[in-house]
Amino acid sequence: MERKVRVRFAPSPTGPLHIGGVRTALYNYLFARKNGGDFILRIEDTDSQRFVPGAEAYINEALAWCGIRADEGVLEGGAFAPYRQSERREIYLQYALQLVNAGHAYYAFDTPEQLNEIRATYELEGGTFAYNYKVRGQLNNSLNLSAAEVTKRIERGDQWVIRFKMPEDEDIRMFDLIRGEVVVNSASLDDKVLYKSTDKLPTYHLANIVDDHLMEITHVIRGEEWLPSLPLHYKLYEAFGWSDSQPAFAHLPLLLKPSGAGKLSKRDGDKFGFPVFPLRWVSPETGEVSRGYREDGYFPEAFINMLALLGWNPGGDREIFSMDELITLFSLEHVGKSGSRFDPEKAKWFNAQYLRMKSDEELATLYRPVLEAKGIEASDEKVAKVCGLIKERAAFVSDFWPISAYFFATPEAYEEKAVAKFWKGDNPARLAELRDVIAGIGDFTKEAIDKTVHDWIAEKGYPMGQVMNTFRLAVVGASMGPGMADICEVIGKDETLRRLDRIGEVVPVKA
Ligand code: GLU
Repeated sequence: MERKVRVRFAPSPTGPLHIGGVRTALYNYLFARKNGGDFILRIEDTDSQRFVPGAEAYINEALAWCGIRADEGVLEGGAFAPYRQSERREIYLQYALQLVNAGHAYYAFDTPEQLNEIRATYELEGGTFAYNYKVRGQLNNSLNLSAAEVTKRIERGDQWVIRFKMPEDEDIRMFDLIRGEVVVNSASLDDKVLYKSTDKLPTYHLANIVDDHLMEITHVIRGEEWLPSLPLHYKLYEAFGWSDSQPAFAHLPLLLKPSGAGKLSKRDGDKFGFPVFPLRWVSPETGEVSRGYREDGYFPEAFINMLALLGWNPGGDREIFSMDELITLFSLEHVGKSGSRFDPEKAKWFNAQYLRMKSDEELATLYRPVLEAKGIEASDEKVAKVCGLIKERAAFVSDFWPISAYFFATPEAYEEKAVAKFWKGDNPARLAELRDVIAGIGDFTKEAIDKTVHDWIAEKGYPMGQVMNTFRLAVVGASMGPGMADICEVIGKDETLRRLDRIGEVVPVKA
C-alpha cells in the first residue's frame, strides 16, 4: 500500500531562521500540498547548550508570515504529539539501549577532559583525532570493559555516552532524490554520540531518526549540510531494522553569496545591505539587531516567490507564481544540484512586481499610515488614485512618499537642475499664458486638461518639450512623475493654479 506522504521541517531553535531554512520549509510544504500529504513542524531542541530563548516563537511567526501552515506541530497538535523533542525525552533512551543490546552501539566513559587530552596529543603530531574503529579498542568503553565494570560505573553515577559502532570497512550505498546514488566508505566515519547521560538527552542523530520513524515520515527534504550525516542515518535505520520503511531523502543545494563564492551568510547581508532573515531579530545575548524582509517592506508573497525559484524552477521563462501555482507545479525533479546564487536586486524586483499587482485601494491602505505620520489628510479616493499613478515606479511602499509628496503638498523647493534648464527665456511668460488657459477649463478632468493644453501649444506653435517641462517644474518641483494631466486632475484646479503662480513668486528668472 502506498503510504500517505508525510514530510517535516525540523528546525533547531538556536537563533533566527535563516532564509535558507525558510526555503527548506517552503519546499517541504509545497511537496506535502502537491502530494496531498501532511506537513509537520518539529522543534529539535535537544541541544540544550545551543538553545536560544525566543527562537521557537520566531520560527512560528516567520512561517505564519510566509503563509506556510503546518498540519501538525507544537501549536497545531496532532496524532504524533508532542512535537517538541525536549518533551519526548523519555522516548529516546530505550532506543539507544536497544542498539547497545544488539551490539550496534556501546557505552563510552571517556570524560571530556580525557578526550581533550588525546585530541591535543594528536594535534601536536599534526593529526586529528576521531573516535572510530581504529581507536575504540583502546578507549574507556564497554567494548573493552567487563560487563560487571560497566554496570558498576553506571550505578555509581559516572558520566557516559552511547556511541554508534560504525562498521570498519563497508561501502554504504545511499540514494538521494536530487543527487542520485551516493556511496561512502564507513572507514571515513567516526562513532557518533547518540545519547548523553549528563543531560539525559539524545543527540540530533538519534532523536531525528527515532522521530522520523515514529512520526511516519516518508520524505526527508533538508539542506545539503546534512548530506555528510546521511551514511550514519542509513546505518541507524538498518540497525533498528527499519530500512524497509525509511524515508526517501532529498538534500537541497546551498544558497550562495551574491558573488557565488560560498554559502550565504549573515555577514553578506550586513556587508551588502540586505536581510538574510525573514523577520527582524534582536539577539537576546548581545542585543544586536538583524534586519528582516518583513520589516524592510517585502510582501510575503514576493518573498516566497523569490525563495521558491532559488534552487527550483518549473522550466520556461515565467517567474511570477502564487503559492497555489507553486503547489501545482512543484516537484523535486526540478530542484537543481548546484547552489543558487542569491541576488538582492532580484529580490527587490520580485517585490516591485507584486506591488504593481496590488489594487490601488489596497496600496492606499498601506500608504495611509505613512501619510498620517506626515500629518497629511487626504480622501481615500485621492490616496488610491495617487497609488495607481506611482506604483509602477516603486518597489516598496516606503518608496512612495519621495515620489508622491507633491500630490499632497505644494513643492517647497524646485530642483536646481530643472530650474537652470527651464526657468529661463520665454518659458516663464508662456507659463503665465498657460495659467489662463488652465483657468478656463470648466470640467477639470484629465482628458479635458490634456486636450486643452496640447491644442493650445499646437495652436501657438510653441515648443512642446519646453512648455511641458516648465509646467512640470511648477507643479511637481522636479522633472519626474506621471503625465501632467493626471497630476493636475488629482490635485485639482485651484491647487494647479496656485502652483503655476507660486513658482514665479519664489524663483527668480535666470538672465
Ligand atoms: N534539526 C536539524 C536542523 O536544525 C534538522 C535537520 C534535518 O532536517 O534532518 O536543521
